[in-house]
Amino acid sequence: MNQLSSLPPGTFSPVLQALADALGANTVLAGEQLLDRHREDWSGTPSHEPVGMVLPRTPEDVATVLRICHLHGAPVVVQGGLTGLAGGANVQKGELVMSMARLDRIELLDAAGGTAIVQAGVTLQALKEAAEAHALDFPLDLGARGSCQLGGNAATNAGGNRVLRFGMMRNLILGLEVALPDGTLLTMLDRVIKNNAGYDLKQLFIGSEGTLGVVTRLSLALAPRPGWTGTALCAVDDFQAALALLRAAKARLPGLAAFELMWRDFFDAGTAAIHAAPPFAEPAPLYVLIESFAGSREQGEAAFEHMLEHALSEGLVQDAVIAQSQAQAEQLWAIREGVSELLSQCKPCAAFDVSVPIERMDALVQDLRTRLEASFPTQSHLFFGHLGDGNLHLISGPFESEQALVDAEAAVYAAVGRFHGSISAEHGIGVVKRPFLHHSRSSAELQLMRQLKGLLDPKGILNAGRIFESSTPAED
Ligand code: FAD
Ligand code: ZN
Repeated sequence: MNQLSSLPPGTFSPVLQALADALGANTVLAGEQLLDRHREDWSGTPSHEPVGMVLPRTPEDVATVLRICHLHGAPVVVQGGLTGLAGGANVQKGELVMSMARLDRIELLDAAGGTAIVQAGVTLQALKEAAEAHALDFPLDLGARGSCQLGGNAATNAGGNRVLRFGMMRNLILGLEVALPDGTLLTMLDRVIKNNAGYDLKQLFIGSEGTLGVVTRLSLALAPRPGWTGTALCAVDDFQAALALLRAAKARLPGLAAFELMWRDFFDAGTAAIHAAPPFAEPAPLYVLIESFAGSREQGEAAFEHMLEHALSEGLVQDAVIAQSQAQAEQLWAIREGVSELLSQCKPCAAFDVSVPIERMDALVQDLRTRLEASFPTQSHLFFGHLGDGNLHLISGPFESEQALVDAEAAVYAAVGRFHGSISAEHGIGVVKRPFLHHSRSSAELQLMRQLKGLLDPKGILNAGRIFESSTPAED
């Protein structure tokens, strides 16, 4: 008999009992066994008490969970590393949590072929460290690397700091295994780069935020670890200069890997948040963090320094600090990554990740700053972003009421719509941006999304109400 039998009668429902019977001991938790830490992501949206939690150990277990939930019409939410910023993994009323934490095996690391097959619960950092032992890297990189899971990265099509060079998570996925809401296990673990054999079904699941299926395993492309990394922080006078610097860096640095833009208010807050000394004597309106990879110091260093000399002589950059060691590079990155401290400090806040064509970003920032400062003069509005990808981040807050926060969101997303941008460049829609999706997607697109959801999840049991309102019984 499994552990549920030791709980008082009435603690568990028929569906929990069916799950416990099918998966065996220590796989289902209910009542007081549930841990608070398994409740909330980083979005600050409410999360309810789940009806229970199931911890599958294998991809087949995940499929079994879904088959049973489908049979019982029981709603289930998938939880990865809970670092999401869109509230998608937070528990809605009546939901069972399926945690992916135990699917944590790196099944294959093919150093010669530069590929890996991993289970969905492996953290981004764990794969990076395993690859490092073979002079390889899994090049996706984001501040939440220590906790976020590769399955979560696929579900949200995560972006991060190196999209400029390696693309988003989608570009690094060779194959996927997905458990469908009815319990079918769809194994598509290709390891080939080219494959035009009919529809590329894995693409449907990447970025679908767990609404169409649960990612159980991934086949991923690894990259050689760079032999040399150049890192510099530049003080820049205005947005046009930052754009010209981007152009020069792209033209002169074949290994350009990151180009992160920080407006002064973000930079000052980020520096203060990590208790760092400001790296320049004089403040600047904008700061750019540049990272470039090369096979060796000989190949990389001279080109990196020449590019910066060119930028200084052309007046694109007013001042620059080049990291002289790995430790110095990490100090410069720490300012950019002070975002996790800022997110924790400014609750309740709104964290935006929008995108617009690069040349319109400055106009959007000015538009948003004017609106937000007029309507919310006592809040901070901190702008930063991945300039190379046209991806703008903004942290606004803390707000004194839920309504004020929603009003700020409405103002920002309407402006992004007017600029023909996307309301989510990389974090996804979840529940946070659901009311605003129409600013970025036409009604024809939304209708097709709903049709796909209905086709794959006719009972609406899986991650219901994420991305768009559910029209199926499970959410009622
Ligand atoms: P969770 O938060 O657990 O879940 C996210 C969504 O995916 C939920 O809807 C969940 O139901 C679903 N899901 C999770 N696992 C699976 C699975 N196996 N199968 C199907 N659905 C699943 N994001 C970026 O893109 N770029 C950044 O630069 C970035 N920086 C960040 C910095 C910080 C400090 C923080 C806290 C977050 C940052 N994020 C960033 C957001 C977040 O880290 C990513 O969205 C990440 O991909 C989420 O992974 P997770 O495992 O934590 O997913
Ligand atoms: Zn980002």
